[in-house]
Amino acid sequence: MTQTDEEKARYQARMAKKKAHIDQKVAEATEERGIIIVLTGNGKGKSTAGFGNVARCVGHGFKAGVIQFIKGTWACGERDLLEQHGVECHVMATGFTWDTQDKAKDTAAAQAVWQSGKAMLTNPELRLVLLDELTYMIRYGYLDESEVITALQNRPKQQSVIITGRGCPKALIELADTVSEIKPVKHAFDAGIKAQQGIDW
Ligand code: ATP
Ligand code: MG
Repeated sequence: MTQTDEEKARYQARMAKKKAHIDQKVAEATEERGIIIVLTGNGKGKSTAGFGNVARCVGHGFKAGVIQFIKGTWACGERDLLEQHGVECHVMATGFTWDTQDKAKDTAAAQAVWQSGKAMLTNPELRLVLLDELTYMIRYGYLDESEVITALQNRPKQQSVIITGRGCPKALIELADTVSEIKPVKHAFDAGIKAQQGIDW
């Protein structure tokens, strides 16, 4: 398909306008600080995106830390890989809450791993901290929301934090700088396909 001179000129003008707009936006973004990213919603891809971001960070030579709430008894491919690359990972060791059915035990386990999370949130060497599945800890009342918010607010200036989990509490969404809600359009599980190693964990 060949373009007429008029089409070429129109295309060029449109692209030049777009570039000017993007250049202006880039010039306006001058602040340099760590951010809070929330990945929420019912679709698949929250934890994988969080771990992908940790890999991105480590790939650039930065240090990162991971706290995983809930999935203690589950294997996790990316956690095993990242630990081999010096990423400190702490896992709440109880398994799914509907397996344990013991709120006091779940609360104690959440509090224990949260102590490691709080320590990470004071460590300026960590460029990124992933708090995987944190949202449930607040929703179930295992962790105090205001304590979590205070720890997030007082973290080192250049440190970024990623929080994942469904149904993110409003206060965390308000505090966050970037929030993505992943919407389920389809999920293989609903068609009877089993969860798979390397794909789902
Ligand atoms: P992933 O770890 O694959 O990025 P996720 O963190 O977005 O998923 P979670 O709510 O933490 O999702 O669920 C963890 C597990 O449940 C994963 O194995 C994932 O494939 C599966 N899962 C996620 N969303 C759905 C869904 N809408 N229906 C069924 N299973 C799901
Ligand atoms: Mg997840």
